[in-house]
Formats: sequence, C-alpha cells, structure tokens
Amino acid sequence: AEDIELSELALHPRVGGPKNLPILERYLDDEDSEIGKLCLTKPHLVILGSGWGAVAVLKNINPNDYHITVISPQNHFLFTPMLPSATVGTLEFRSLVEPIRRIVAKVHGHYLEASAEKVVFSERLIEVCQSNPSGGELRFYVPYDKLVVAVGSQSNTHGVEGLEHCNFLKTIEDARKIRRKVVRNLELACLPGTTEAERNRLLSFVVCGGGPTGVEFAAELYDLLNEDLTMVYPKVLRNLVSVHIVQSQGHILNTYDEKISTYAQERFKKDSIDVLTNARVSEVLEDRVVFTQKDQEGVIHTKELPYGLCLWSTGVAQCEISKDIVASLESQKNRRAIETDTHLRVIGAPLGEVYAIGDCSTVRTNITEHIVEFLRSYAIKSNKPVEDCSLTFQQWRDIAMNIKRRFPQAGEHLKRVDHLFTEYDTNKSGTLDFDELTHLLQDIDGKMTSLPATAQRAHQQGQYIGRKLTNLARAETLAMTVNGDVDDLVYRPFEYHHLGSLAYVGNAAVFDINGYSFVGGLVAMYLWRSVYFAQSVSFRTRALLFMDWLTRGMFGRDMTQI
Ligand code: FAD
Repeated sequence: AEDIELSELALHPRVGGPKNLPILERYLDDEDSEIGKLCLTKPHLVILGSGWGAVAVLKNINPNDYHITVISPQNHFLFTPMLPSATVGTLEFRSLVEPIRRIVAKVHGHYLEASAEKVVFSERLIEVCQSNPSGGELRFYVPYDKLVVAVGSQSNTHGVEGLEHCNFLKTIEDARKIRRKVVRNLELACLPGTTEAERNRLLSFVVCGGGPTGVEFAAELYDLLNEDLTMVYPKVLRNLVSVHIVQSQGHILNTYDEKISTYAQERFKKDSIDVLTNARVSEVLEDRVVFTQKDQEGVIHTKELPYGLCLWSTGVAQCEISKDIVASLESQKNRRAIETDTHLRVIGAPLGEVYAIGDCSTVRTNITEHIVEFLRSYAIKSNKPVEDCSLTFQQWRDIAMNIKRRFPQAGEHLKRVDHLFTEYDTNKSGTLDFDELTHLLQDIDGKMTSLPATAQRAHQQGQYIGRKLTNLARAETLAMTVNGDVDDLVYRPFEYHHLGSLAYVGNAAVFDINGYSFVGGLVAMYLWRSVYFAQSVSFRTRALLFMDWLTRGMFGRDMTQI
C-alpha cells in the first residue's frame, strides 16, 4: 500500500503517450525544497545511463541550468578499465564503483533505478520500465526537453551458440561470478574424488577474444596463479593449470601497434599462456569450446578445448534500446550504433533535442571533408586555390598522421591511399592533385563512421555535451531569435583526440600513445597503475584502490568464495 501511495505522490495523475501510461512530471521532493521548486522551472534534461559518458556529462554541466534526471538500471558508475583486476581479487569490487546518487546529488538531480525501453520522439517521452522486488514491473513515461542517450553496449555474440555456458566481463556482478568460479574450480580440483581428466578440465581457463579485456583477464589470472596459488594450494596444482586465448585474428591486441601485439604475444608465450591465433569459435558446449583454426598452409582444422571457465569477450553490440532508436528513425543507416552528426545529435530525431554518446553511438563523418580542411591549410600557405593544389607523398603523410590522430580506426583505410599514392608516384612525378585525391577517397568515405568503443571516447563526448548544454542554456534567447543551427552557433563540432591506449599484460604493461608505442616490465606496470589511479572517479575510490594495492602487497589476494 505504501508503494502505491508513493507512486501516486511521485507520478503526476496525467496519463498519456502512445500507450496511455502515467507520466512522471513531479518527483517526491520537488515541492519540499527551494532547489526542487526551482528545478521545475528549468528545461528537463534526461540522461540514460550511469557509465562513462553519463558521468562526464554530469561532471561538466552547470547544475543551475537544468532539471536533471538520470535513468539507469545500474545504480553506480563502474571504472571498467580495472574490472579484470577484480576478477581475481587484486582489487576489491567496491574500489571500482561510485554510487550514482553521490554524483547526481551534486547537480541537484534525480535518479531512477529503471531501464529506458523506448523513446517517443514526437511527444518527447521516454518509456521506462522499473522492476519491482516482488517480480512485477511498473511502466511509465518520463518527459524530456533534452535527452542524452549514453546506454553503452552489450557483449557481441557473433551468433555463436552455447554462450549461456560462458562468463562475461561487463559488470561488477560478472566479475564477482568469475571470481567465485575461479576459486570454486581450484577447490574442486583439490578434492580427492576428482579424476585427473576432470581436474585438467576444471583448471583449464579459456578466453574467447584477444582484445584488451581478454588479454588483461588472462594476465590477471596468470598473476594469481603464480603469486598466490602456490602459497595456499598444493604446489602440484600449478602445473595442471592452463590458460588459453582463442583469437580470430592473426595477433592478439590487433587494434594496437604491431610492436605491442608482438610483445604481448611473446610475453604470453614465455609465461606459457597458450595463444591460438586465426582461430574462430563455432560453438560453446557445457564443458568444451569448439573452434576452427587455419594452419600456415591455409587448411582449416576443427579443434576442441575443455574448459572449467570460459570467458566470452569478443567485442560489443547494440543494446535493445539503441536498436529500437535506430529502427524508429528512418535516417539512421548504421545497424551497429546510433548515428549522430558531428554535434552528437541523433540523426533523424528533432534537431537539438536528442544526443547520443559513448559506445551506443557513432559519429557520421566524411573523411573527404576532413582532408579538404587540411588541404585548405596547405593551399593558404602556398597561396593557391585548393583545387589547384597538389601534394607530395610527404605532405600526404602529414595529413594522414593528423587524421589518424583524430580517427585512430582510419589507419587501415589510409594505408590504401598510401598504396595508391605509391602507384601514382611511379607514373607521375611524385605529386597528386586535389581531384585525383578526392577520387581516391570516394571509396573510403562512409566507411569512416566509427570511433573506438572506449571509456576515453565516451568521457570526451560526455564532457563535450556537458559543456555544450551549459552554453545552450545561456543561448535560450538566441534560440528564440535565430532560425539557424543553434548548436553550431554556440559550440564547435565534436573532435575526438586520441590520447593513446594501454593494456596490462602480467607484471608488465603496453602503451600505444599517438602512434608511439612503449612496452615494459614493472616500471610500465606502475605507470599503468598511476594513469588509472589518477583517472579514478573520486577521492574515495582512489583511497580504496591504494588500500587494495597495499593489502595485496602485504597479504596476497583474497581467495575466499564470498
Ligand atoms: P557504459 O559505461 O557501459 O555505461 C552504460 C550505462 O547505461 C550503464 O550504466 C548501464 O547500466 C546503462 N544502461 C544500459 N541499458 C540501459 C537502458 N535501457 N536504460 C538506461 N540505462 C541503461 N575503455 C578504455 O578506454 N580503456 C580501458 O582500459 C577499458 N577497459 C575495459 C575493460 C572492461 C572489462 C570493459 C567491459 C570495458 C573496458 N573499456 C575500456 C571500454 C569502456 O568501459 C567503454 O567503452 C565505456 O564504458 C563506454 O562508456 P558508455 O558511457 O558508452 O557506456
């Protein structure tokens, strides 16, 4: 009965929208406080998600300008880069999370622990579903004036069957499940009734996917086995443990510089971590992974690997709400993410009302536009119209380097231009004119849509939206008087600045920063730790991280199954 009363108080009696659901227009405390009353007079900003993108918006927006509501099923922000460390007890779960309410309170906003399921663009309503502990659910609409979609992504299944037997690594709960399973398998392997074959299976850890998450998990597991296992478990167990990485490409960490992936691979070989490259998982059974692998002659063999724990970490796919948004807007062309323009506005939604950031989104860009921009600067220097400009190979390399910095994923495409350039070079005295270059680039255009799905990108986009929304609030009167593109008038388009990538590979770390790569042992590992320590979301989490590293250094990892 109390729940119903609360709902009635919180929900405005008005019902509406396509499904005739209650519309949440007032919150419990709105009328109780001065701030609450003031909020009601401001534009309503709704943010979907409590991850990297959402938190960066909250930390960069002026709290006085909007009445803010955050909707997310996850009531905390998770510092994902260190999640692999929590799977083996190097770090504790609490050290990686910050309650979202602490962050929301700083902007005098509201938080709803619920999932957004649909956006009704025509009526500016979000359909929200809130599950009750008793098993039922409550559906209602939340109205918005501005909406930021930052719902992240989910694991990509690639259509492989049997993934219900796998573990994933995206949430704190996933890390907890892995940690329990690792310890449980070690305990089961020690029981006198366990057969040798069963023991080998229990102690076989298979990682599907050789990207940073899979690699870091394998490295953390390796550290656990070497640093703690032999201290508390029978020594004989160590030799029975095996760690395998199944990677579909020719190298692990294949989005990093080649030097880095070679280093990581050699390091793993030395550490007896079995890296299976050119291997594609076809099915996961209850106790073994089935995969095909190409040998050096190109012949494909089907193989099997028994496992006690199988981690599935093969990239990201769209969440249900993102799929729904894409399907409901005709102008959306990309089936893998919500497309935005360079102001991060969702393409096809009413202009200036809906933004999408982070893993759930992709910026539709035009590489030719960017190149023309750079060409213009050359043209100005050489005092010629851009159409009359020609480039030497070296000038092209400078431009390409600049584009790669903004769009790291452009590397592969740009290599093709390099190749074509070299072909031209042999025919035509080493220069390429603007028309020819545009012609070469036509084919590449359109493929240049996705930025990397990283915390770095989500954070930069969140910062951008936070600052832009602040400027937009100031420009309210401008919006009334100007018919043009207000977003464009108040703020520059979003530009991604790739600051580099790093990964932990077991008492060593690898860095790929602006095209320069570093690899190294303990010093690099401490550098890796300090980068993330500095980026950690609050002083509280920093203090907890410090305590975890200290405790582990003094007493080893916690291997209890709690
Ligand atoms: P997220 O941070 O995933 O947040 C999405 C939020 O939306 C969550 O709060 C979720 O609960 C919420 N949500 C989901 N569905 C709904 C819905 N229907 N309604 C409302 N809310 C919803 N990146 C790096 O740059 N460096 C790294 O070292 C790194 N390591 C990683 C390690 C791991 C184990 C993982 C899993 C990821 C790692 N990443 C790393 C990637 C990085 O975490 C993501 O790119 C980043 O989290 C994306 O931010 P986001 O805000 O788009 O999404």
